Amino acid sequence: MKGFSYLKNVTTLALDRERCSGCGLCAHVCPHQVFVIRGRKTEIVARDACMECGACALNCPEDALCVDAGVGCASGILTEWWRDTFPGRRGGPESGCC
Ligand code: SF4
Ligand code: SF4
Repeated sequence: MKGFSYLKNVTTLALDRERCSGCGLCAHVCPHQVFVIRGRKTEIVARDACMECGACALNCPEDALCVDAGVGCASGILTEWWRDTFPGRRGGPESGCC
């Protein structure tokens, strides 16, 4: 999904570079190439591409990443899928995005 961009300056993604060990897991799991490893630390190079899926924070062994997962575009995509797949049916993911 290179080149993808979500909304400008809305992501809750935060990085504590002091904690980062440069293991690269965040760059490996991120579906939108938000990170690049440089000089044994990760860098956020595409902040607006973050859809707040939470994969990076969940996999970071140093607790260097923080993001409010589940409130971003992924939630909107799931909600849309639920409505299209089960029209008129109650339940499913909450809306509130996109
Ligand atoms: S997963 Fe965590 S420790 Fe590893 S490079 Fe990313 S931020 Fe740094
Ligand atoms: S929350 Fe998801 S999309 Fe955002 S930087 Fe982390 S892995 Fe990438």
